[in-house]
Amino acid sequence: MLVGRLTLVSAPRRQLPTYLTSLLYCVKRKLYSERTMSSVNKTAHAFDKTRFDALLNRRFFYAPAFEIYGGVAGLYDYGPPGSSLQANIIAEWRRHFIVEESMYELDTTIMTPAPVFEASGHVARFADWMVKDTGNGEVLRADHLVKNVLEARLEGDREARGQATQVVAAADDKKKKRNEVKSTAVKLEDAVIAEYDSILAQLDNYTGPELGGLMRTHAITNPASGNPVGEPQQFNLMFASSIGPTGQHPGFLRPETAQGHFLNFNRLLEFNNGRVPFASAQVGRSFRNEISPRAGLLRVREFNMAEIEHFVDPLDKSHPRFSEVADVELVLLDKYVQAAGQSTTRIMTVGAAVKEGVIANETLGYFVARIYAFLLKIGIDGKRLRFRQHMANEMAHYAADCWDAEIQNSVGGWTECVGCADRSAYDLSVHTAKTGIPLVVRQALKEPIVEEKAVAEWDKKSMGKTYKSEAGLVSAAVTALDEAGLMKLKDELAKGPTTIKAEGKEFTIEPGMLTIERKTFKTSVREFTPNVIEPSFGIGRILYCLLEHSFWSREQDVERGVLSLPAVVAPTKVLIVPLSARAEFDPLVKEVSLRLRKAGIHARVDDSTATIGKRYSRNDELGTPFGVTLDFASVQNRTMTLRERDTTDQRIGSIDDVIGTVIDLVQGSIEWAEACQRLPAYDGVQAVE
Ligand code: AMP
Repeated sequence: MLVGRLTLVSAPRRQLPTYLTSLLYCVKRKLYSERTMSSVNKTAHAFDKTRFDALLNRRFFYAPAFEIYGGVAGLYDYGPPGSSLQANIIAEWRRHFIVEESMYELDTTIMTPAPVFEASGHVARFADWMVKDTGNGEVLRADHLVKNVLEARLEGDREARGQATQVVAAADDKKKKRNEVKSTAVKLEDAVIAEYDSILAQLDNYTGPELGGLMRTHAITNPASGNPVGEPQQFNLMFASSIGPTGQHPGFLRPETAQGHFLNFNRLLEFNNGRVPFASAQVGRSFRNEISPRAGLLRVREFNMAEIEHFVDPLDKSHPRFSEVADVELVLLDKYVQAAGQSTTRIMTVGAAVKEGVIANETLGYFVARIYAFLLKIGIDGKRLRFRQHMANEMAHYAADCWDAEIQNSVGGWTECVGCADRSAYDLSVHTAKTGIPLVVRQALKEPIVEEKAVAEWDKKSMGKTYKSEAGLVSAAVTALDEAGLMKLKDELAKGPTTIKAEGKEFTIEPGMLTIERKTFKTSVREFTPNVIEPSFGIGRILYCLLEHSFWSREQDVERGVLSLPAVVAPTKVLIVPLSARAEFDPLVKEVSLRLRKAGIHARVDDSTATIGKRYSRNDELGTPFGVTLDFASVQNRTMTLRERDTTDQRIGSIDDVIGTVIDLVQGSIEWAEACQRLPAYDGVQAVE
């Protein structure tokens, strides 16, 4: 029976008979439903950083660590929704890479003895350039200083021309001053603008002394004090420690997880039956003593990384699944464009990029495409994602090619969130050289290789007598000769004594001391050091950009934001909202909770006394994609409504149907459009018997 009018609204609700209470609710829900139906479209408002920061802070996504002690720059704690979001991103990363690509997962130690990082080159080179304020001693990162000052001057020029960038940035001025250099409206010459643009496009390519030169040429001083800065100096970013009580075993907190993969290479290889290619993967903490971390989660001193080391034959970098990604279109910013002082991107399929040599090889291209798919799947806006190639100076000397997935955000602009590099044979070679333990693949050849080689054999006795302590030197000089050199020496010895040079000295070789013969060798094993393709993800940077890309607010409620997180990463998937605290709702709430829990779906009950609209909007802020409401009709008819966060659209169905649909939605097997075909629209009114 449907009653259209209600007059008993002033009576206390608890005392109303059930059927009247349900009627009252019908009207209230109808009002709510109508109100929200008009809010389907997202607001066209510019991104509001102040409201965004307030939401993250209020709902404790993350906060400065040690806050009540004043905090430490670059250290953050994640609260309940931030931790769940991070765990869900990592879980999806595991599914997308480890499960899908059959990788071997590792968990290696963080504390690392110094010789490891001496061999890897981190002790000598894992450093950033810093400059000191000559007046107050403040330390600044050299490249960031140049970037911030030049960008502020360009913004000042736009202001002077009345074209200032319209960003609703932090209205919190104090914060703004700390993070950025304030612009002043001053017009620049066209040539100066072009020069600044060119410097900014290739900023990562400058060496420390070159950055110093730029600061002098362009009169760059510390914006906070106006003081000049000194010459750039290198600062090693590793946190040093010592292992054990004696202080004799220096160590470092690892700045990346990669070395743990390389050091276990022989075990991994055995695990993979002695064959390449294979990949290991690891998620874990890394530490970098950043010079001046002032960009929230984008630049921190302790963070989670997810790294893959794909070991591949240097002679065959094809990928068996490349055809699956060849048609994926990517936005690319290659090294030639940047070196020309520009930042124009182009769209190319991965297949074409590899074919034309823009991306060095298939395996690297395959991973770039897989990184792209992963970032889209977790909710990164594809229009704010590009792949930038490293320029010559920026790339490690041993690397063959390197592409960064850069995600645009309001704090760091285009920010590297994932690096993907072909590191050639560098890592395994340096650890082999340092330890003497070969980190190589031995491959049985189908056809043995038969070859003739010239071989030198010494008469050890007369050699020792003649050269004494320098015998090793002479022997090494002969060993270093190539085939032609050895044959020339053989001819000379056939004519009589001859000489050879070693370390600037000349040694005579008598014919009887050395015989050189061509011998036949049969090799049935090929030995090689595998090359490494390394995708390296910074989870915190991805998480922050995802939050920014997901944030918006409804026109009628701008104060409260919405986080449109995909269900796969949303901290809570389903909000269960019982209309009333009456005892008769309890069994239903328990049943729905239990059934969702059993399906592995993280649901949360909001049985507070807040209005239903408020309960929904509180959870919109947390990114909860679905809400189910249990009302009086649920008690009587076992129906339940289902609400979708972004559209606020509501559907109705039996509890069984709604639970089945919500499970499919959360697991990603159907889209909302299909849910709408399964369940009729809820018009805010439910029939009550
Ligand atoms: P890298 O080894 O320098 O290429 O860094 C790999 C990834 O780690 C980068 O793509 C970032 O996502 C992340 N990362 C590096 N340094 C930091 C930092 N200081 N704070 C947060 N994430 C970082």
